[in-house]
Amino acid sequence: MIVSAILKVKGREVETAPSTATLMQIADTLAKRRIGAVVVVDDDRRVAGIVSERDIIRVLAKSGPQVLSSPASSVMTRNVISCGETDTLDQLMNAMTTGRFRHLPVTKDGVLVGIVSIGDVVKYHLSEVQMEASAMKAYIAQT
Ligand code: AMP
Repeated sequence: MIVSAILKVKGREVETAPSTATLMQIADTLAKRRIGAVVVVDDDRRVAGIVSERDIIRVLAKSGPQVLSSPASSVMTRNVISCGETDTLDQLMNAMTTGRFRHLPVTKDGVLVGIVSIGDVVKYHLSEVQMEASAMKAYIAQT
């Protein structure tokens, strides 16, 4: 399974924010959309950073609720690892495990075209494992 097949099923919509959005606005988006991260993009829809719920919790604990009026640029991770549409499920799992994060923006020619979360990866990995198990059972039953 490759990223483009995942996006075909889940869609290409991504919650984004400009780097000037406040952490309160981002927290509001995370809560309303029931998601774990927002991708920060520039005017050309290029990835400038990512803010996950963990980033917000970390600064809240450190600086208190007044930090919620700070801009996304003050806490976002700038060195974002992205994936491409032809990357495989195994490559995504490796990137998430190595980088210890749960979100991978998908880019094409540098532009944001989707996002894959660890929930998507687990879902499609499970269905691959189940398909392999069924094929194996059918093969064994034949012989
Ligand atoms: P997450 O597990 O996605 O909630 O993110 C955990 C930490 O990794 C947070 O500090 C995020 O800003 C950061 N992060 C999330 N996704 C990525 C990514 N694709 N590349 C780099 N850092 C990321």
